[in-house]
Amino acid sequence: MQLIDLHADTLTSLYYEMSAGKNQEFKLNTPVSNLTANTLAIDVAKLKQADSLAQFFVLWLNLQACKEYKISPWEHFLKLHHELINQISLNNNSISLVQNYNELMMVQHQKKLAAFTCVEEGGFIESLDQLNQALQLGVRYITLVWNYETHIGVPAAIDQSRGLKKFGKEMVEVMQSLGIMVDVSHLSDQGVKDVLQITKQPIIASHSNARNICNHSRNLTDELIRGIADSGGIIGINCVPYFLSDIDPTIKISQLIAHFKHMHKVGGENLLAIGSDFDGFIGTTPELDEIKNIADIQKLIQPLAVAGFKPDQIEKIFNQNALRVIKTIMK
Ligand SMILES: [Zn+2]
Repeated sequence: MQLIDLHADTLTSLYYEMSAGKNQEFKLNTPVSNLTANTLAIDVAKLKQADSLAQFFVLWLNLQACKEYKISPWEHFLKLHHELINQISLNNNSISLVQNYNELMMVQHQKKLAAFTCVEEGGFIESLDQLNQALQLGVRYITLVWNYETHIGVPAAIDQSRGLKKFGKEMVEVMQSLGIMVDVSHLSDQGVKDVLQITKQPIIASHSNARNICNHSRNLTDELIRGIADSGGIIGINCVPYFLSDIDPTIKISQLIAHFKHMHKVGGENLLAIGSDFDGFIGTTPELDEIKNIADIQKLIQPLAVAGFKPDQIEKIFNQNALRVIKTIMK
């Protein structure tokens, strides 16, 4: 079944070699591995095995490290963006960057993989004009905040009771007028409520699970799940061990299924999607993991069916819900 994965940090992780210390994307001019084939969770070969229709590639910006390495978040965004273009063009027989539904369909027709560009950390936008520049560079969603408080708002990691700031609210409005999707993953509970109050379009949580199943601040409460569903939006359920279970930190399909079932109960079948977050975390005991990388994602189908999801509902999870939102928002 064709897959749309809403979130993966592969582009940043291409710079990482475990022995070489932290923040390597700032130290190295060229990545240590490539998108064609690597030992990460996502590469072109694994995307083919996953029957990928579209992969959202996140450019993840660490604001503290930007400060430390004296590079502006915008410059760092440009560097990672350049590398994304470079990696895609090295594989242009197999994969193409797309910006909307029609381009996605065209690439599918050519039997190629599709890639969307997005940014995790809205802090690279310091004036609203830059949103238009980001759009021109193909950015199709922005995760408003990561784990640092910014001029945009407050993340779940800092304080759930403080939300979007004035600039953040303006940013949401401009993003929606331009057709850039608003991603609320990492945002505080109050921040998600603020977005829900002003949104005129479906919003997404590109990689968030259910707090009712795993009590982690990064996971969404039932109230917020319902709010995102009511906006017509989608939630990409992720494979991060510490967002899946309080008890067992290894990735078990049964834990993933529990989040799908709960989100379905609370928000309905049009809400569910996949946002793996692959290459954005390190599994604690990989030898026990059932879903090690994107190529294993089809292993979800059978347990979803056993859990009671019908074939058309599984298709919604894998691609139809994401397609609906892409079609609605991206111009
Ligand atoms: Zn994240």
